[in-house]
Amino acid sequence: NLGAHLVLAVVNSHNYTGAVTDALTRLGNKRFGLIRLEEAVFAARRYGSGLGLAMCDIDQFKRVNDTYGHLAGDAVLKEVSRRIAACVRKADTAVRYGGEEFMLILPEADASLLQAIGEKIREAVAARPVGLGAAGGSVPITLSVGIVAFHAETDSGETLIARADAALYRAKDGGRNRVESDR
Ligand code: GH3
Ligand code: MG
Ligand code: MG
Repeated sequence: NLGAHLVLAVVNSHNYTGAVTDALTRLGNKRFGLIRLEEAVFAARRYGSGLGLAMCDIDQFKRVNDTYGHLAGDAVLKEVSRRIAACVRKADTAVRYGGEEFMLILPEADASLLQAIGEKIREAVAARPVGLGAAGGSVPITLSVGIVAFHAETDSGETLIARADAALYRAKDGGRNRVESDR
């Protein structure tokens, strides 16, 4: 019964998509990101190809919620997600890693390309105010970015994330709205 099989295929696909997609931003979720990261680490080891990881965190996002409300905060998250997604290449993966934090997996990216992508994302968000949704109006938003390049001898997916987090922390500490790298 082809019809039943087709329905099942669509339902399965729908369930899978729901399990790995963030409902608010429609980006992949953390679970999806961690799966893709393990695949990317495997490929980088196997083929000796480059791999970069970026962690981005919206600056002072709590203030947006406190000032304009949670719904406006949600609208900002959606728009920032769209801007981030527009900055990456097809082979890259951008996921919502946590509340206002995004992880980017960037295969075949060397140090200078990583820096360029980090800057591009930072600029895309900071370039013009972000809309607050139904309430109307907009607000300037910035984010901080930590980027790292994979070292096959010493890195795993976990250490890549830890190093990117450390670089992100330095970007916050250094005044926010900036990109910090660790090569
Ligand atoms: P920092 O520059 O140090 O990153 O400051 P911050 O305010 O961005 O960081 P903090 O971790 O203090 O606050 C993050 C806020 O993000 C708090 C939380 O309520 C908000 N948040 C997380 N997820 C969502 C969401 O789905 N929607 C909305 N509206 N807010 C969210
Ligand atoms: Mg955060
Ligand atoms: Mg933040």
